[in-house]
Amino acid sequence: MRIGFIGLGNMGAPMARNLIAAGHDVMGYDTVARPEDIPLADSAADAAKDAAIVITMLPDGKILRAVADDIHPAMVEGATHLDCSTVDVDSARTVADGAGARGLLSLDAPVSGGIGGAQAGTLTFMVGGTEAAYAAAAPLFDVMGQKAVYCGASGNGQAAKICNNMILGATMIATCEAFGLADKLGLDRQAMFDVVSTSSGYSWSLNAYCPAPGIGPQSPADNDYKPGFAAELMLKDLRLSQMAAEAVDADTPMGQRAMELYAQFVEDEGGKGRDFSAMLPRFSAKGRS
Ligand code: NAD
Repeated sequence: MRIGFIGLGNMGAPMARNLIAAGHDVMGYDTVARPEDIPLADSAADAAKDAAIVITMLPDGKILRAVADDIHPAMVEGATHLDCSTVDVDSARTVADGAGARGLLSLDAPVSGGIGGAQAGTLTFMVGGTEAAYAAAAPLFDVMGQKAVYCGASGNGQAAKICNNMILGATMIATCEAFGLADKLGLDRQAMFDVVSTSSGYSWSLNAYCPAPGIGPQSPADNDYKPGFAAELMLKDLRLSQMAAEAVDADTPMGQRAMELYAQFVEDEGGKGRDFSAMLPRFSAKGRS
């Protein structure tokens, strides 16, 4: 299949390589990155023309809207715009409306699985859009990922992603503050893990990604909190969930507090570039505030 791929950064480049390895004819474009092993066009519109599917993997909704304005007029009628970036729900729906008005199919399909999942082709896609668009892109989900979940109308993929990550941010903080409390109460971290990981306080944050080094499965805590999933990316997603909550008048106080704590950590406490589980040393170092 002829595929345009716009945004060849940490995630986009390995996703494009997996498509090439599966035999697809990929034409890429990025304003900065110039990977030597991916065929490159001179502009986003050039990468998009003649493609059956154009994938975008971009930093935010504003850039996505601008790129969509460039590529939609160049795409052939009936082609599919598959956006895999994590962006605000409103941008996803605006881009989908613009595509529909030009006779194009479109999907918002943000991913989880990170750079490792992008390289290994084991991403999970959360997908919003029409069923026809989903059917058109399904073979590519199989190449770039191990799972795709159809979530309904346009924007619902982004909605699923930010709801998941709002839970993730809040549970990671709850887990880290509980370890900090356990330390001060003289409860051994291994004992705490052994109890909670098999009791009702268990979660993915504790059981699969334990923020305490040397305890539980291998995690970024065992690698001096190198990401992994960087704290600033968690902050980006929590800002998106709060923006969405405000837009629809949803009450999300835990998401709000998680966003504030990650903002403080990233912007004032040196957390940028550290894994999001580095909230544990942050809590251990602080007293009550
Ligand atoms: P990145 O910054 O490494 O890549 C983005 C790329 O887009 C860059 O190479 C940049 O030059 C390019 N770009 C910016 N503006 C452009 C334009 N107008 N035209 C063409 N290219 C342009 O970011 P990433 O880590 O690859 O993340 C991409 C998206 O995936 C983000 O929305 C992010 O939130 C999401 N995501 C990232 C991860 C992760 O672990 N990195 C995990 C899940 C989701």
